[in-house]
Order: sequence, then structure tokens, then C-alpha cells
Amino acid sequence: MKAFSNANPRDLAQAVALLNDARQQHRTVAVAGGGSDLLGMMKERLITPHLLVSLKSIKGLDQVKAAPGGGVTIGGLMTLDAISRDVQIRRLYAVLAEAAEGVATPQIRNVATLAGNVCQRPWCWYYRNGFNCLKNGGTTCYSISGENTFHAIFGGGPSYIVHPSDTAPALVALDASFRIVGPAGERRVPASEFFTLPTVNSARENVLADGEILAEIVLPRRGGAATHSTYHKVLDREAWTHAVVSAAVVMDMDKDVCRTARIVLGGVAPIPWRLPAVEAMLAGHRVTPELAAKAGEAAVAGARPLAKNGYKVPMVRTMVSRTIADIADRGLRTAN
Ligand SMILES: Cc1cc2nc3c(=O)[nH]c(=O)nc-3n(C[C@H](O)[C@H](O)[C@H](O)COP(=O)(O)OP(=O)(O)OC[C@H]3O[C@@H](n4cnc5c(N)ncnc54)[C@H](O)[C@@H]3O)c2cc1C
Repeated sequence: MKAFSNANPRDLAQAVALLNDARQQHRTVAVAGGGSDLLGMMKERLITPHLLVSLKSIKGLDQVKAAPGGGVTIGGLMTLDAISRDVQIRRLYAVLAEAAEGVATPQIRNVATLAGNVCQRPWCWYYRNGFNCLKNGGTTCYSISGENTFHAIFGGGPSYIVHPSDTAPALVALDASFRIVGPAGERRVPASEFFTLPTVNSARENVLADGEILAEIVLPRRGGAATHSTYHKVLDREAWTHAVVSAAVVMDMDKDVCRTARIVLGGVAPIPWRLPAVEAMLAGHRVTPELAAKAGEAAVAGARPLAKNGYKVPMVRTMVSRTIADIADRGLRTAN
């Protein structure tokens, strides 16, 4: 690992100032939450910052608080383990608790933060092994003609990475918004607009500009007992790894009738992949096994698999129909 300095800011303003000053002095900088991804990348020399700004020293960003107007605000430094065990999140935002619980290993979940999970870089083997690919500043995505077993079937091009975060699809499905602070001040971005396709900038995965920090995540108030949500994930081994395919589903139910639905896939696209056509198909209808099967069929419309990842198409179809049927079943059980 290349030598670097470490800074422990006392608050967000100081963190932003440290990042800004370093940039003005032409020093490279990186922001660390739990460091579980970042330090590995530094060891591999995928990034070589002069200065590491460790956010863990900032107090108060590791909690869940009531948000104005209902809902909750989750500090970006809250660990995935704490999120998965938080009683309020489990009750009102089960999809997020389940997604956090399904990440990696207990050791990683103990240090990994929600902001760090959302902002983690892709785990494409070409990028992580230092190939001069689009993510490493090159001009080629090697997965197109190379090893693409785990790559995108939706939204690919020019890069075919998949977004690696389990919590990101859950946050998009919950209509979360992100509070971002940076040298130009503060802004709030809906989760659905935070993640960006490679056509926007193939070297980045989100809208964060240099020197910006993801500070907090705001979840709107949900409909209580009538809202059901869940996260289903398929892995290529039993634990400790990213989703091959996942689905975050949030549905407002009146017995077995769906009022509104949010369906967002993970592991299949460079961003959490929302399915608005499937959501529209469900809204206002009784969720029968036939409708769930039709929704699964509609979920794969427009899929463009590469040479080795066509197996993801039937996985998505089945995962979407099963997850919807599971939620409809919960709606009925709660009503009875
Ligand atoms: C064996 C293994 C298995 C894994 N399996 C999964 C899995 O199943 N699902 C999954 O989702 N992930 C998985 N991961 C990734 C893991 O979850 C991430 O490493 C972790 O969530 C990152 O959180 P962190 O706080 O440690 O982030 P860090 O390592 O500190 O940072 C990660 C990235 O986010 C940036 N960053 C951190 N905080 C902020 C912030 N507040 N604002 C702006 N940028 C920020 C950093 O600069 C860095 O680029 C796995 C990792 C390993 C090693």
C-alpha cells in the first residue's frame, strides 16, 4: 500500500473543507466510511490517495432519527448490522433491513456503513484486477467479449458492470432521498436519480461530484400495516457475496389488492433497475398467481444478455413473480 495521511474530521463541514483544501493543492483524496471496500482497493493500488478522510470520527451520523413530516432519517455512518437489527426499520422498512442483513459477512456488516455500501465501487473482475478498462480510465469494457457471467442484462453500454449494493435497490424501492454535502453546499437527490448509467459517465456510478459526501438517507413515511416489503437475493454460493440477481419489492396492499408497487432489481444492471411497467400492471389489481406470473414475464422485457449471462433472464422472471406472490400472501394473512 502506498503511504497516505489520515484525517479524522469532527464534523461534515470540516470533512468537506479537508477534501476541498487537498484538491486545491492537487493532492488526491478519498473518503472512508467503514473502510471495508476502500482499504482493499488501496492495498491493490486501484486508488492511491495522498489523504484519507475518515468519516467515522463524525458524531451523530450513525443513528436513525424521526424525519420532519414523518418517516425517518438514517445517518450515512450507521452500520449495516445496526440497520438490520433496528426495530423501527424492521417494522416499517423491512426491505432495507433484509437487504442489509443479506450483505457479505457479519464481520463486514459490523463495520460497513450504509453510505459506503451505496457508494461502493463495482466488483467487476476486470476493474478489480487493474485492467485498463472504462472504470480504470481506459476506453474498453473487456466484459463485452470476455468473462461476462455476472454482468448486466439491462442498461449496459458502454460499461456492463452491475451495481453491487444490496441496499441500493431497497432504497430506490422505498422512494428514499439522499442528503449530500459538498463544497457548493447541500442538496437533496432522490435515490432514483442518484445512480447513473454508464452512458452518463462510464467511470462513475452516481451523481456525487468530487468533494461531495453522502451524509444522510431520508425514508418517507409508509402506510403502516398496509405496506409490505421484502428483499429476495440469489447468490452463486450460500453466503458472503454479491447478488447474482435480487429484487426489492414494496407494495401497499388492501387485502390481496395492490394499491401501489415499487419493484427494483439488483445484480442485473449498472444501476438499481426499476420496473415501472410491472408496477403499473399491478396497481389497482388483485394479485393472483396468474398476475404474478405475468409480472415475471413483463420483468424480462427488454433484457439484452451477453454471451454468458443469459441464465439471469429466467432467474429474474421467477424471482419477480415469486416475490410478488409472497407479498400478496402477506397482505391476505395480515388482513385475516
Ligand atoms: C467478501 C465480500 C463480500 C461482499 N458482499 C457484499 C454483498 O453481498 N452485498 C453488498 O452490498 N456488498 C458486499 N460487499 C461490499 C461491502 O458491503 C462494502 O465493502 C461495504 O458495504 C462498504 O461500506 P464501508 O462503509 O466499509 O465503505 P468504504 O469502504 O469506507 O467506502 C466504499 C466506497 O464508498 C465511498 N464512500 C464511503 N462513505 C461515503 C460517503 N459517506 N459519501 C461518499 N462516498 C463514500 C468510499 O470513498 C469508497 O469509494 C462485499 C465485500 C466483500 C469484501
